[in-house]
Amino acid sequence: MNKPPTVLAVFAHPDDEAWVCGGTLAALSSRGVRTVLVTFTRGEKSTQIGSPKLTARVLAARRLRELRHSASILGIRTIHALKYPDGGLDRVKPSRLDEILQYYLNRYKPAAVFTFARDGLTGHSDHQVVARLVRRIRRQLSTGLRAKCDFVFFSYPNTVRRRLNIQLIEQRQRLRRVDTRQFVEKKLRAIFCHQSQVLTLARIQRYDPDALRKLFSYEYVALYYRHGKKIAPDIVGLI
Ligand SMILES: [Zn+2]
Repeated sequence: MNKPPTVLAVFAHPDDEAWVCGGTLAALSSRGVRTVLVTFTRGEKSTQIGSPKLTARVLAARRLRELRHSASILGIRTIHALKYPDGGLDRVKPSRLDEILQYYLNRYKPAAVFTFARDGLTGHSDHQVVARLVRRIRRQLSTGLRAKCDFVFFSYPNTVRRRLNIQLIEQRQRLRRVDTRQFVEKKLRAIFCHQSQVLTLARIQRYDPDALRKLFSYEYVALYYRHGKKIAPDIVGLI
């Protein structure tokens, strides 16, 4: 029997997996694709509301529990939650980040790598560092390896950003929509696993369940490389 393909999702913080491409990951895992998540930080610096404030260590442990729960809903098989500084990925040597991503590429030999588009979705510097890292590594791969691995960069259209109160970064690219309607409940449940993220969840508090389902029924690809070439994302092929 052939080994199932692996998708490697590479993000910065616990919760990125759910917000950025949770529906696509759930869809793929339901079809037997092995999904693996690498998150470079444990999100220990995220803003807390109320008191007492949790220490970074306690918050990191809590976010890891939330991530495990979210991953189990999305069918993510393996999590690698690394301990690079939350809010400080731009202070880590790019060559170190390269080594880490190379290690996971060698280990899993994924059929595809998922991450943020260039803008880092929210403009968060950690997100942008990860987006740059994946683009850099893609370029560094030999032609043969590049041809074996798809690279998929996810974003949100301006309409969704506006509704979520995400800082509007001029989004000029045409995004391709991935229909993840069937998995929207899982995506929402995964998003809500991250209960420590009070400010992020506040973005969706005013919406009722129907409006939320509508808002998160699709995911959006900004850039897709298949066999080493930039293509218009073949959405059917993706999920
Ligand atoms: Zn994040």
